[in-house]
Amino acid sequence: MAMWNPFRGCKKCSDGCKYCYIHKGDAKKNIDTSEIVKTKDFNKPIEKLKNGEFKMKSGLVYLCFSTDFLIEEADAWRNECWEMIKTRQDCTFLFLTKRIDRFMKCIPEDWEDGYDNVVVCCTIENGKNADYKLSIFKDLPIKHKCITAQPLIEDIHIEKYLEGIELVVVGGESDPNARELNYDWVLNIRRQCIEKNVNFEFRQCGTYTIKDGKKYKIQTKDLTRQAKLANIDYKSQK
Ligand code: SF4
Repeated sequence: MAMWNPFRGCKKCSDGCKYCYIHKGDAKKNIDTSEIVKTKDFNKPIEKLKNGEFKMKSGLVYLCFSTDFLIEEADAWRNECWEMIKTRQDCTFLFLTKRIDRFMKCIPEDWEDGYDNVVVCCTIENGKNADYKLSIFKDLPIKHKCITAQPLIEDIHIEKYLEGIELVVVGGESDPNARELNYDWVLNIRRQCIEKNVNFEFRQCGTYTIKDGKKYKIQTKDLTRQAKLANIDYKSQK
């Protein structure tokens, strides 16, 4: 698995951005997150070794995990990124976005019904944004679609948007002031996925997780492990 961050920086645009880990990390280093800039890794997928092979290995590539790939400030650079994505057919590029309503403005001319090697994860956190964003997402020409409900901050109903979705990921918020994650909401999404035979993954607990009416404070280092201990991931029977 590789990471490719062709640009960095972001602006808060959604309820789930409140405790954005990029903003928190940048604040510690005195970096202005709202400045969107190209990185030295911009051309990473097509950089080559002396022997002519690509430096970046084949396989899954996490794209733009220090920004949002669809952010407006990167519009002038994105076509170059698509070209590199097209060149690297041996890689699958996965990005998350809170700006799915910009998607059609951001695709290349030859996108048609989607590139085979691109996975788009639409990120939602509450009912309002689930309805707004997933009603757009469901009709978009994308070959591989996932939903990321993280940080989940309320109970949501997404059954009507699950057609064609390959995976739903759920997780809580991580921060000393995080909003609570109720485990019942997680189970509710899981039930919806099972009913529609869609893969489901409980990725991380929240710093404050409520289970059976009791509130637990969980250390950041244990958030993923605790979620895995719940052992509730679901693999579709297709
Ligand atoms: S869209 Fe993502 S990266 Fe940008 S501010 Fe929100 S949480 Fe942070």
